[in-house]
Amino acid sequence: MNAENKKIKVLKRKRNLCILLILIAATVGITFIATSNKDEIDNTAYTMNLGSNIHIQSKMSIKIEPKAEVKKENKIEPKVEAKKEDKKEVKDIVKSNFVINNTGGVPVICYHSVVSDSSKRGPIAIPKERFRQQLKTIKDAGFITLTMSQLNDYLFKGKSIPPKSIVITFDDGYIDNYTNVFPILKELHMNATIFVVSSSLDGARFMTPNEVKEMSDYGIDIESHTVSHNRLSGLSYEQQFKELKNSKEAIEKITGKPVISIAYPEGKYNKDTKKAFLASGYSMGFTTARGYAERRDSSTELNRICVDYTYGSRDIENILNYVIR
Ligand SMILES: [Zn+2]
Repeated sequence: MNAENKKIKVLKRKRNLCILLILIAATVGITFIATSNKDEIDNTAYTMNLGSNIHIQSKMSIKIEPKAEVKKENKIEPKVEAKKEDKKEVKDIVKSNFVINNTGGVPVICYHSVVSDSSKRGPIAIPKERFRQQLKTIKDAGFITLTMSQLNDYLFKGKSIPPKSIVITFDDGYIDNYTNVFPILKELHMNATIFVVSSSLDGARFMTPNEVKEMSDYGIDIESHTVSHNRLSGLSYEQQFKELKNSKEAIEKITGKPVISIAYPEGKYNKDTKKAFLASGYSMGFTTARGYAERRDSSTELNRICVDYTYGSRDIENILNYVIR
């Protein structure tokens, strides 16, 4: 029994020793593995951090620094330069063209129809090529075509205009003003005014409201030639008032712009016309009396110079040189 007990004890010790050794080995192994893993994790974390730092740095270098450069190049500097250029251009215009002209009259040329077929020429019908030649003479002489508003500002509001200023007008609103005149005005970069009869915009003999609107949008002034083209001097005050007021409203509805002037049909008017003119809010009234529009004139009686197909370049130059034949 004692011997067996001793054997058992020895075996137990060996087993415990084995267990202890196994435990020690296991502990060392786990610690080693754990340490190794930690290093790996830390390394990974470092690498990741390093990577992300680089990433951030590279983002910074890509996004922030170049952005600052882009802002400088594209947003700030060019704008400043553009503004400088704009100012320069304006100054140049002021120097070259807009010299104060406080005394001279302004020729306001009066046309009607501009026809494609030269055999249909007449007192109010000028062949297209002749018309083009006349406008070219005006342009080549260095004249600038004013808008109605610019003419009004010069005559009655003390504003300056270029010394070589002219106004081109058309009465009645013929459809050839759209088909023949409009392309020539665009080609020569010239301005003009068309006095339309508000009840006649039929698209047959006269322009349509759409054509009127298109020309107005381009910059051509569309002004009044009354509602019916009746001779104003033969109408009562009430009738005249309606002709002036209703045509003004109808045209403004089409163009969306204020109508500030009227050309009296056949150039005829009387005292009641002047009253109706003021009551319906016009700024300038044009007759067909021959002469320049001047500052000393009444705003209700402004002269024009009607031109027909008989006018060659020399005749036009005489008008520009203030020689009225
Ligand atoms: Zn007329």
